[in-house]
Amino acid sequence: MPVNLLEFDADSLTSYFVDIGEKPFRARQVLKWIHQLGQNDFDNMTDLAKSLREKLKAVAVIQPPVIISDTLSDDGTRKFLIDVGNGNAVETVFIPEAERGTLCISTQAGCALDCAFCSTGKQGFNRNLSVAEIIGQVWLATRAIERDMGRVPEKRSISNVVLMGMGEPLANFENTVKVLRLLLDDNAYGLSRRRVTVSTSGIVPAIDRLAEACPVALAVSLHAPDDDKRDELVPINRKYPLSTLLDACNRYLQHAPRDFITFEYVMLDGVNDSEKDAEALVEIAQKVSCKFNLIPFNPFPGSSFKRSPADRIRRFAQKLIAAGIVTTTRKTRGGDIDAACGQLAGQIKDKTKRTTKAKATAGRVIPLLEINA
Ligand code: SAH
Ligand code: SF4
Repeated sequence: MPVNLLEFDADSLTSYFVDIGEKPFRARQVLKWIHQLGQNDFDNMTDLAKSLREKLKAVAVIQPPVIISDTLSDDGTRKFLIDVGNGNAVETVFIPEAERGTLCISTQAGCALDCAFCSTGKQGFNRNLSVAEIIGQVWLATRAIERDMGRVPEKRSISNVVLMGMGEPLANFENTVKVLRLLLDDNAYGLSRRRVTVSTSGIVPAIDRLAEACPVALAVSLHAPDDDKRDELVPINRKYPLSTLLDACNRYLQHAPRDFITFEYVMLDGVNDSEKDAEALVEIAQKVSCKFNLIPFNPFPGSSFKRSPADRIRRFAQKLIAAGIVTTTRKTRGGDIDAACGQLAGQIKDKTKRTTKAKATAGRVIPLLEINA
């Protein structure tokens, strides 16, 4: 079996090169070819000796996962459905904005944590994605987007990466850290720590480990102001209740590239959106330096919750803002192609339906042949 070089971060690629009798700096060159220049053909790596290229061709491959579909929403949001084998697929979403281009990537097929309002959670847990499958999403999306925009690699269209797609990144810890290191590596994607965000439902020990291993920006899925509600909405809270989570946030802030934690808060009609809830959040904000990102609930087939009405979301935000808390409300984007937060289900079985829907309502479906060309 050839080794897939997309599995390696800089350190592990260097060890691999030493193992096959090559100089460590060659690993750096190859890392650049793969991630900076989007190359997966050893023959095109022109600054490597022909003998090394032949050797690599015999023992290694650069094998990203396969894109099943590539759909463009009316608002420019672009969703890639990525095959991860055995009838499973995960989703990668690119969100272009005036000031930045954010890529949202998945870290697991399904998720074991079963949050009440999350479509991925309702699928159950299938498996952790490998490093090649996670960084492969960035690799594929970069190539697809830059090719379409006619951009040169130096003018990157992806300026931010958020680990907020399917799965809980901190439950796939080792692979997530390798991916983060690649995102930050100057020979790979060269992003600053502030432009890479891990979103977690609150696995406390793993937050501490991340602070040591690779502290990037942290978003925490709060979703409720007290343990009673949070136990129901985010079941991991029964293991790591709010007080322990908030302590972990404060410990993390000592290592973090930003001086605040982003609290994500899904707005569920009649569940967590009252004035009292907002007041309780103001108290939480006195304990942890934070910003709030309110996410209007995105329904999915079979979900029992409703999105809070727009004026209630506005009032809720105003209450937080009046207390001096920076609060944003996430714009729902890519809804017409089921690419909004929490709508990511990624089953291949659903694919035909989803693609058809996108075609019929809005999105442009890019044919497979074009994608894999
Ligand atoms: N597992 C991680 C990251 C993936 S989920 C986490 O839970 O943080 C990314 C964000 O989308 C989380 O804040 C999650 O709670 C939110 N989310 C999940 N389902 C949603 C839905 N149906 N509508 C709106 N947001 C949702
Ligand atoms: Fe998993 Fe995050 Fe969904 Fe919860 S919200 S089930 S942790 S993906």
